[in-house]
Amino acid sequence: MPAPTPRPTIAAMVRYQPNLSAPAVGRIIRLSANEGALGPSPKAMQALATVAAQVHHYPEEEPKALAEAIGQAYGLDPARMVFGCGSDELIQALCQAYIDPGDEVIHTEYGFIMYPMSATVAGGVPVSAPDIDYRISVDAILERVTERTRIVFLANPNNPTGSYLTRSDVARLQRELPENVLLVIDAAYAEFVSRNDYSDGSELVETAENVIMLRTFSKLYAMAGLRLGWGYGPQDVINAMHVVKQPFGANRGAVAAAIAAIGDKEFVERSVAHNETWQPWTKAKFEALGLKCLPSVTNFLMVRFPDEAGHTATEAGAYLSERGILTRGMAGYGAPEFLRLSIGTEEEMRIVVDTVAEFLN
Ligand SMILES: *Cc1c(COP(=O)(O)O)cnc(C)c1O
Repeated sequence: MPAPTPRPTIAAMVRYQPNLSAPAVGRIIRLSANEGALGPSPKAMQALATVAAQVHHYPEEEPKALAEAIGQAYGLDPARMVFGCGSDELIQALCQAYIDPGDEVIHTEYGFIMYPMSATVAGGVPVSAPDIDYRISVDAILERVTERTRIVFLANPNNPTGSYLTRSDVARLQRELPENVLLVIDAAYAEFVSRNDYSDGSELVETAENVIMLRTFSKLYAMAGLRLGWGYGPQDVINAMHVVKQPFGANRGAVAAAIAAIGDKEFVERSVAHNETWQPWTKAKFEALGLKCLPSVTNFLMVRFPDEAGHTATEAGAYLSERGILTRGMAGYGAPEFLRLSIGTEEEMRIVVDTVAEFLN
């Protein structure tokens, strides 16, 4: 008898490849996953400890106190939220709920890789809309809409490029999409952005039936290890997600920590201020070394390395990794000439700049 085989679609896929381990060197500097530079809020850590004695109980299916805390902090209606084991779970739930085999899902060329992966797993066909100069093109997305299009995934700001679409660009995309196409605005990095013409898309959720915004506690709130994401959308979309997603995706520890983190305004301000200092600092240092960085409104930078042997991005990534500094190669995203790296502590940024300088010499 032959061994069991997965569906052909699944057998042909490569699993998600984070870069989270380094050769055995003393100290590891993790700049490969856009995690928070400062660690979690002390208040979140305290709250996490307090639920330890309750973990024999399942968590709430719909964590009300958390929805209310988010509603208050962001001015949103707690009744239209959905929570999951990271926003990754919510991306997957949307694909499972809205895609029949052969349906098309539009994502952008240099967009978050979980979109085409989740679409494929659900039996859908991912369709890539080309960027222009590493920026998302609303026209390129609209040109790829067909009768089979069911979902458009937009990361805003975008990972890995770090750029953003303005409020009016996103509004135009929504206006010109057919009403039966779901627009998913993944605003994982929204808390870092301080531009007047940026919006996380929540105002579109209030007025349109085909828009959902996704958020996460993994990035600014620095709780990636607890796995908590949330969505804000029309009741019908939320209801469909509840049917397909796990009932207990938002665990007790994550929920307790998140309520405390949301309330820790000092931590939020300190984290934003840290990024506003060290992201431009790091960018300027790399540019002084002759490397180009894409403009970024996030806690990470896409850095372009030269094409010449000895100085390529792949070689730089390996050089850094051997010294315990983890960055993210972009070959999987079709941009092998770049490394993406997140903003860490001041000390980590000084070390990475010095190490890259050493590599280039
Ligand atoms: C990190 C990231 C996520 C995933 O967040 P989790 O909540 O940790 O699953 C989603 N979207 C984008 C664009 C991200 O960069």
